[in-house]
Amino acid sequence: EVVISAKSVGKTFGSGADKVTALDDVSVDIFQNEFFTMLGPSGCGKTTLLRLIGGFEQATSGQILLEGKALNDLPPYKRPINTVFQSYALFPHLTVRQNITFGLEMQGVARKQADDRAEEMLELVRLAQYGDRVPSQLSGGQQQRIALARALAPAPKVLLLDEPLSALDLKLRKEMQVELKRLQTETGITFVFVTHDQEEALAMSDRIAVMKSGEILQIGAPREIYEAPTHRFVADFIGDSNFLVGNLVDDGAGKRAVKLGGGQVIELTQDVSSQRSGEVTVSVRPERLGLVAESQAGDNQLVGTVSTVIYFGTDTTYQIDLGNDALLTVRMQNGSGAKADFAQGERVGITMSPDSIR
Ligand code: ADP
Ligand code: MG
Repeated sequence: EVVISAKSVGKTFGSGADKVTALDDVSVDIFQNEFFTMLGPSGCGKTTLLRLIGGFEQATSGQILLEGKALNDLPPYKRPINTVFQSYALFPHLTVRQNITFGLEMQGVARKQADDRAEEMLELVRLAQYGDRVPSQLSGGQQQRIALARALAPAPKVLLLDEPLSALDLKLRKEMQVELKRLQTETGITFVFVTHDQEEALAMSDRIAVMKSGEILQIGAPREIYEAPTHRFVADFIGDSNFLVGNLVDDGAGKRAVKLGGGQVIELTQDVSSQRSGEVTVSVRPERLGLVAESQAGDNQLVGTVSTVIYFGTDTTYQIDLGNDALLTVRMQNGSGAKADFAQGERVGITMSPDSIR
């Protein structure tokens, strides 16, 4: 069931020469009980989209719907939507418990009920014994969890989270990733999460929208985004990718292939229309490639020379020179049984797992 729907949303700031297009024709459906992430580099429009959903900004064009109804002029406090900011924005002079009950009482919830709800929320974030402290007596991670407890207390339909973990150090950030995922699963509330960190997005999300310059390029499950990127930008921004430029040709056996500058050919596994021709870029993940001794290489296999070997413990990363300035990074897991000890200068054949070529 769709909870939030953006329909051709545009947002510009300023006018004339100062005009900035923050969002350009953005459409997306976000489902109930979903951990949905907007991922993209700084300035791509993530915060703007979140602020439009929250009601802190008005769209220049298009609409935001909540359960099918246009939100238009509904002010933020009348929306069943709450926001967690990167700065926790706790009231410093109120106790942790009062921080949580404050908003509930403002909404007209009776004192006793608000207190009960606060206890429930403190248990949810596993800080039950901290209700009487003030925020300054808590660590950064604990303050963050209180901010979450407060935002979840009124049981909103949607929780908006704008880079809530970016101020935390790496270890705490990893812990809070697990914590946030748990809170989302346990409450069943739709989380709309914003990050510029691709690993964080892959680890936490049910679905990800990858944004660039005010547009959504691709929406999909983490695996889909990673393994079947629809844009070069997506392949580049998320994980490591090899990019090779060549010309689209027919391989003579009815299949499409890409001929590299040096004459070597890569057979395509993805369907590419026979209408298309000319220069294309092929992308393939380093871990979807493997190496064999040149003597073992098949007829249609790429061959090259090992130019760099970097041992990482769990894997070894090879740089392979295909000739004509074409370089390929190959990452082979160590201890997986496959021979993975090729030396610099060695001639090798490159194996590619099926469906790995985009
Ligand atoms: P992100 O959160 O992805 O970093 P933002 O949504 O904050 O991106 O910003 C998108 C674009 O809109 C940027 O170019 C930013 O400078 C611009 N922008 C955001 N808010 C305003 C504003 N209030 N006034 C003018 N420009 C703004
Ligand atoms: Mg932002």
